[in-house]
Amino acid sequence: MTNEKTVQQFDISIVGGGMVGAAIAVALSQAGLQVALIEKQAPPEFEPDSAPDLRVSSINLASEAWLATLGAWPVLERMRLCPYQRLQAFEQPHSIVTFNAADIKRSHLGHIVENNLLQLALWQQFGANVRLFCPSSVTALEQTADSAIVTLDSGEQLSSKLVVAADGGNSQLRQLAGIGSNGWQYRQACLVALVNTPYPQQDVTWQQFTPSGPKAFLPLSGQQGSVVWYEEATKVKQLAALSPAQLTQQLLKAFPPQIGEVEVVASSWFPLARMDANRYYAGRVVLAGDAAHTINPLAGQGVNLGFADAKLLTELIIDARRHNNDIGSAQLLQSYQRKRKPANLLMMSAMDGFYQVFGNDIPPVRKLRQLVLSVAARSTMLKTLVARYAVGSE
Ligand SMILES: Cc1cc2nc3c(=O)[nH]c(=O)nc-3n(C[C@H](O)[C@H](O)[C@H](O)COP(=O)(O)OP(=O)(O)OC[C@H]3O[C@@H](n4cnc5c(N)ncnc54)[C@H](O)[C@@H]3O)c2cc1C
Repeated sequence: MTNEKTVQQFDISIVGGGMVGAAIAVALSQAGLQVALIEKQAPPEFEPDSAPDLRVSSINLASEAWLATLGAWPVLERMRLCPYQRLQAFEQPHSIVTFNAADIKRSHLGHIVENNLLQLALWQQFGANVRLFCPSSVTALEQTADSAIVTLDSGEQLSSKLVVAADGGNSQLRQLAGIGSNGWQYRQACLVALVNTPYPQQDVTWQQFTPSGPKAFLPLSGQQGSVVWYEEATKVKQLAALSPAQLTQQLLKAFPPQIGEVEVVASSWFPLARMDANRYYAGRVVLAGDAAHTINPLAGQGVNLGFADAKLLTELIIDARRHNNDIGSAQLLQSYQRKRKPANLLMMSAMDGFYQVFGNDIPPVRKLRQLVLSVAARSTMLKTLVARYAVGSE
């Protein structure tokens, strides 16, 4: 039973203050809603000389535009990020398909950002309408017809019209709300390494497709970059156990020449999972970002999908508030699910098709892959379409 005396009231409670949860908190608080944000761990403060976060994301133009309206993008620009103008895909280093920002009359195709800096830039936008509970996590969830109450590990209880679960792929809130999910672990995992490169700051991100998995380079600010190496999970774990000097040797052997004489600074590895929540809401709990879906990071879409969830959800909530409607109604949440679930599923399936076509060496599939790349190399229209898709427009 809830002790009424200790229950604190908010319009919205958000569990998880990662990139997606923090963006939702900023958008709703700027519209005047009272927000409680519950997060296990605060992002570290920015130090200009600190080593970049190993977790980096490619942020498309659609996400950038929304983050700019929230005020976070200019703050991030003053910290650290790296724009890229070209995106390259190839099997053989000598036959490269290049997608250019100029082809779609843009100054850039996207940016590579450090996850914890983007999170911090959003946290710096929290105003008086955001009450931060950090470090803190949820121990229980209780729902009534017109509110949802979360109990924190401190014993405090927060009541609101809606609880947003933005607590990542292993969402505890999703489980507390009784929402099931389906998915699988991919055969491959990926090693991510921060490298020093011999080149000045680069404007290109590239991906080489090989039968054992893609090898990618993402430019970071200055003479640094992030290398992503997809392989069988056992091999990735072996690579991750090597010293930076040993890993540098392996990387120079396995990667194409455009990588240059890089030097590994730090590395980590990630399992790759696909997860799709059976539904995006239950009662007054709604899922957003990785709590609703995790996708193969092959084409760097995960958090961009999360921001698309966040943008739509916050627009629906702000509109409901403006009309004095219930901001946690089944009708609102159904409308959110109806728009976002098919869009996210489509992207997940497209990535899986991509993974199948580009990640194996069965001769007919190899032929198909070569055909796709050679057609893409010659077709201006196809290149324009891919570039548009990469920036997040239709
Ligand atoms: C190797 C790799 C590369 C990727 N590259 C890209 C890319 O290039 N582009 C892209 O768009 N996406 C990329 N992604 C995906 C992207 O990282 C995720 O989609 C993104 O981090 C999801 O953000 P989120 O805020 O939904 O969840 P998370 O980043 O997982 O954040 C969840 C937050 O909730 C907090 N939390 C968790 N549980 C609790 C709890 N019980 N109580 C309180 N707080 C809690 C966590 O501390 C965390 O801050 C990549 C992923 C991987 C693995």
